[in-house]
Amino acid sequence: MVRTRIAPSPTGEDVHVGTVATALMNYAWAKKNGGQFIIRIEDTDRSRMVAGGEERMLQTLNQLGLTADESPLVGGPYQPYRQSQRLAIYKQHAEALIKKKQAYYCICSPQRLDEMRKKQQAEKRIPKYDRHCFNHQAEVSNQIKNGAQYVIRLLMPDREIVFDDVVRGHIVVHGSNLDDQVLLKSDGFPTYHLAVVVDDHLMQISHVIRGEEWLSSTPKHVVLYEAFGWELPVFAHTSLLRNPDKSKLSKRKNPVWASQYLAQGIFSEALINYLALMGWSHPKGKEIFDLQEYVRVFDPKDIQTSAPVFDPVKLEWLNGMYIRELSIKDLGLRITQYIGDNYPKDIVSQTIPLVRERIKKLEDYLPLCGFFYKPPDKYALDLSPKKAVMEKIYHALSKVTDWKADQIGAVMLQTAQDLQMRNGEFFMLLRVAITGSKISPPLNESMEILGKPTCLKRIKILL
Ligand code: GLU
Repeated sequence: MVRTRIAPSPTGEDVHVGTVATALMNYAWAKKNGGQFIIRIEDTDRSRMVAGGEERMLQTLNQLGLTADESPLVGGPYQPYRQSQRLAIYKQHAEALIKKKQAYYCICSPQRLDEMRKKQQAEKRIPKYDRHCFNHQAEVSNQIKNGAQYVIRLLMPDREIVFDDVVRGHIVVHGSNLDDQVLLKSDGFPTYHLAVVVDDHLMQISHVIRGEEWLSSTPKHVVLYEAFGWELPVFAHTSLLRNPDKSKLSKRKNPVWASQYLAQGIFSEALINYLALMGWSHPKGKEIFDLQEYVRVFDPKDIQTSAPVFDPVKLEWLNGMYIRELSIKDLGLRITQYIGDNYPKDIVSQTIPLVRERIKKLEDYLPLCGFFYKPPDKYALDLSPKKAVMEKIYHALSKVTDWKADQIGAVMLQTAQDLQMRNGEFFMLLRVAITGSKISPPLNESMEILGKPTCLKRIKILL
């Protein structure tokens, strides 16, 4: 049975686009194999939690269609799915390792550890716990009986640690290079390493597909699996998303929360499609495909090691393709959903043929089309010296009987000629007068939609 998971920590406002990319792979692999996709919340680092982050993250993942078979929201056979509610399980497992002599108690004070580390650094040695407590176990036990605070550390074996990663290949690390990792902290909370291994095992996770930042922790996890006598899951470490300048994705450069893109009017299908292309490509080289197709063709062995570039400009381009695939009616519905009900639907649908080639996300619609719904409140050019031109325009337009784009266009061309103005200049003035802006959808068509009385009114107030 294939069981995959994501294990996000609610340390951000919402779900990170990188987490969505990882979630996609896990979701696809589970679904392709008729298995389950699980969301587990890793909330043991209480100091880094962001209030409301978990709720928003789960909601956004749902909105994107990455619904979990088991999660804190829907429960499941291995609940709870929030680590802060599983503390007793971790403690029990850490103690089981003590009994097996694979772990030991440590009561060293932070000061002692700090001095030790400084000394090791000064001697240019790898900073590592010196096993003082392991070498004085009887004394340590006594002190704990008398109430001393303790942590539980993993006894790192002095041997090679070996595992295979679907993406990174065969990995060999020597235990002597690794620290005796703290498993259980003095406040009773597990560290990530203990909790992730215990949960992945108890929740019967078969494949761990996660970001490469966890690759260096995996040897410790392998030691833990072996210490417990558990079978290893399949590991696949994906590459981290990068900014176009190859720097690490950070919220200082571009939005990183998936919901920020949805809020701009990027379609969730397009965001999913784009993120699926991060570190993976379609076997037929396709750029546009839906989640179902992705599920059909995804295989972790095709995950690439090169760093994928998350480029919001490319995402917008792709979203533009999705926009143009929609019928006028469907795009109208999406736009109305996005801008709200205050905008008459018949006008929305009339404007769509004029703008569907120009907008890349729904957020682009109102800046381009706001003038259809209310007169300009400011003008991109000072029209006050152009009253004579406006006068002529007003008279010419009032004579148009058949208010159609080509008629309006013909009459306006004639007016420009009568005024001996160049077309470019004339139409720029007209455009600003009608729309307020130097950039707009095709003007004659826009004026047709606005209707004669509205257009005349907009010119008249400039006279
Ligand atoms: N809690 C880790 C994170 O926030 C999970 C890493 C893993 O998938 O093992 O990414």
